[in-house]
Amino acid sequence: MIFRANEITIIIPEDIICELNRYYIGNEKEVGGILLGRFAGGIIYEVTEMACINSLHSTRIHYRRDVKKAQSIINKRWRETNGEINYLGEWHTHPNMFATPSTTDMESLSAIMHKVGNVLPVVMLLILGANNNTSLNVRKENVNYACIFDR
Ligand SMILES: [Zn+2]
Repeated sequence: MIFRANEITIIIPEDIICELNRYYIGNEKEVGGILLGRFAGGIIYEVTEMACINSLHSTRIHYRRDVKKAQSIINKRWRETNGEINYLGEWHTHPNMFATPSTTDMESLSAIMHKVGNVLPVVMLLILGANNNTSLNVRKENVNYACIFDR
């Protein structure tokens, strides 16, 4: 899937979406993790990898990922690829619920932007919800962009 908004292009290949969908299908509770990939010129962001990060706090409607674990995966991939593969954002599932982000989701997206904004101009949050709906929520500086697509 390709999403374009305000001079940015986000590419999420089908195989990544399929991989994420397997986590949606295989879990009654919310699961989530991080999205990794490359970005060029602050314009094109391509997701090339995902990681599922088990959380101690996961319930059917709530997911909070393990920050340390996420950071160690990000560091590892960054080193292994000489800085080509970076952190691009987050993903989680909304089992049997709309893919629309909750208020908490949007707050955490802006908190992440606040943390990484000096190195990463854009962060994204992908939410897999019911009826094959998926929402892509993108934050660039202080502006949010979003779309919902079928996976
Ligand atoms: Zn959510």
